[in-house]
Amino acid sequence: MNKGQHDTFKSTCCYCGVGCGVEIKVEKNGSVSVVGNQSHPVNHGKLCSKGLNLQYTVNDRSDRLLYPQMRYHKSMPLQRVSWDDALDRTAAVFQTFVEQYGPDSVAFYASGQCLTEEYYVLNKLVKGFIGTNNIDTNSRLCMSSAVAAYKKTLGEDSVPICYDDIELSDCFLVEGANPAWCHPILWRRVEAHKVNNPRTKIIVVDPRVTDSCAVADLHLQINPGTDIVLNYAIGRLLIERGDIDLDFLERHTEGYPEYKTRVMERTLLEAAAICGVPAEDIELAATFIGESTGFLTMWTMGLNQSAIGVNKNLSLMNLNLITGKIGKPGSGPFSLTGQPNAMGGREVGGLANLLPAHRNMNNAQHRDELQKFWSGTTVSEKPGLTATEMFEALLDGRLKAIWILCTNPLTSLPNARLVERALEKAKFVVVQEISNKPQTLSYADVILPAAAWAEKEGAMTNSERRISHLQKAIMPPGEALPDAEILCRFAQKMGFNGFSYHKTEDIYREHVRLTAGTNITIDGLDYDVIDALNTVQWPYQKRRKMGTARLFQDGKFHTDSGRALLHSPPDDHHSERPDSNFPLILTTGRIRDQWHTMSKTGKVNKLNQHIQDAFLEIHPRDAAALQIENGELVSVLSLRGNVRVKARVSATIKPGVVFLPMHWGKILGSDLNRANNLTNDLVDPVSKEPDFKFCAVRVEKY
Ligand code: SF4
Repeated sequence: MNKGQHDTFKSTCCYCGVGCGVEIKVEKNGSVSVVGNQSHPVNHGKLCSKGLNLQYTVNDRSDRLLYPQMRYHKSMPLQRVSWDDALDRTAAVFQTFVEQYGPDSVAFYASGQCLTEEYYVLNKLVKGFIGTNNIDTNSRLCMSSAVAAYKKTLGEDSVPICYDDIELSDCFLVEGANPAWCHPILWRRVEAHKVNNPRTKIIVVDPRVTDSCAVADLHLQINPGTDIVLNYAIGRLLIERGDIDLDFLERHTEGYPEYKTRVMERTLLEAAAICGVPAEDIELAATFIGESTGFLTMWTMGLNQSAIGVNKNLSLMNLNLITGKIGKPGSGPFSLTGQPNAMGGREVGGLANLLPAHRNMNNAQHRDELQKFWSGTTVSEKPGLTATEMFEALLDGRLKAIWILCTNPLTSLPNARLVERALEKAKFVVVQEISNKPQTLSYADVILPAAAWAEKEGAMTNSERRISHLQKAIMPPGEALPDAEILCRFAQKMGFNGFSYHKTEDIYREHVRLTAGTNITIDGLDYDVIDALNTVQWPYQKRRKMGTARLFQDGKFHTDSGRALLHSPPDDHHSERPDSNFPLILTTGRIRDQWHTMSKTGKVNKLNQHIQDAFLEIHPRDAAALQIENGELVSVLSLRGNVRVKARVSATIKPGVVFLPMHWGKILGSDLNRANNLTNDLVDPVSKEPDFKFCAVRVEKY
């Protein structure tokens, strides 16, 4: 599977959606070193702290799972078994459940860190052969609100911009994101652009003062959950001042009259009071946007991880539409993808409500195309269980078996105690993992050791639709296998045809064929073409042998009418309201040097030195009222559980709001540092993305 002839291999960083290119050098003793790829169009050799320390996570194999393990009964210990024994039994159990209870009695929960080929075979296996759409990924916790909003507004989940738009823009509205920490290499481009073009305006919207605010011309420190109110207020000002593009609205959009009516419902002063920011600051934001020639809106989890996440996204995208700043240089809505291959997963339909190549589950012709292509079973029109729904279904017995791969739900899902109870109740749990640390392993009936980054080949797509080819540099340890190979072996044990690929690229080529004729076509692409072009942005223009940097330049969108659609939902929010028992609002998020649940970055001393323990950020006013000193141990309680961490008293957070980092969990000691003991499993009604950024808590001295 490996095409590298020498000891240096091209790859892409396995952390965030920026998608920085790296080179993996394999030393004579077998250890690897990782450096930035100087010729990569995204990062030109630069890496952030996480990327710079990739080699330590690869070289330290002390925690790796080396062979399959299985137990024949919940009361028995796990024991080492062969791959055949593990997969024979797993196939037999899955077949039994499917026969007895139907295909919807089993589910697969995967990750935005899976490679495109892994996503593809998993989708094919579950949707095309087992006959259920019960395959979801942790992208549900990350980008699903943006996906739903892109589909509603643009007709498809198609990010319009390219990173080169950064240098062509003169106004950035960054909402619910801290890219200085979470998308560092991209943010350095924004910072450098601002230095070179001081008239460029940067507006940051966040209840916290983050490092991204350091270069901002304006920080709108809004109350959590009030983003739509703010965006409508800005929209109203732009309309009143005539800073909109009426010609664009008339020729390329629908829904403007309803939008105009909606944003006029609140006065600027009302909006300012709800958002908790000065009215003059909202006016200044509208001035910056109105005076710009290039306008990029950027956002990530602050908008997505919300019970009104889709509506928040829609309200932000509307600002690009009313100003006509989309499909033009330096302009457009730009969702910052959390995970490295969340976009690649969406291309192959890697969520419970998606089908490959942006086909729609409720479209009979689309389902028929897949049935013919795969020669499998009937593709169901019923959306599968989403991430949180899977664990609710395990708890109430609808779901009998779950296969968890490449993700650590006991740290990352909301309301973690419910997830624990669900896994206790599950009749059969398969965990496909690289590390012996995740808490899910203690619930597993079968453990399947997987190959890690650098130990397998495949493709990933970053936030700007850029596809890269990741070469295999080293062999996996012990008996660990690439995820795609594990899934194909299982499919064969289930008796399904169409899973005997000779090499990983055969899977990729099959995915490529399914995209032909669609809006995301990469027809003509294979690993050689990607390598020859360095990387490729979809859609790939086969005749011209090139990708596509920017979408919608002709003003034609992927909706039925060809027009972009302005949606104008109400601006209220449905999160858990603080009350006298739980008077503070908890918001959660990431820190600079850790990734997700720390199974990789937590192994690196240098990264742990940045911030060593979980903490509660609390405003001095709230801390004083509770007589809490900086560094003191506190208990944080919600209706769902509690956390015990040290207080970090800081004016960087809005009074009435507290913050906990999301990375910690039982993987490194006690689970009393796990933010998700507290979070609410309330989800957005459309995207089903959880409300990680808003729940009611109480803080007490410990
Ligand atoms: Fe990796 Fe993201 Fe850092 Fe680039 S910015 S090195 S992709 S973590």
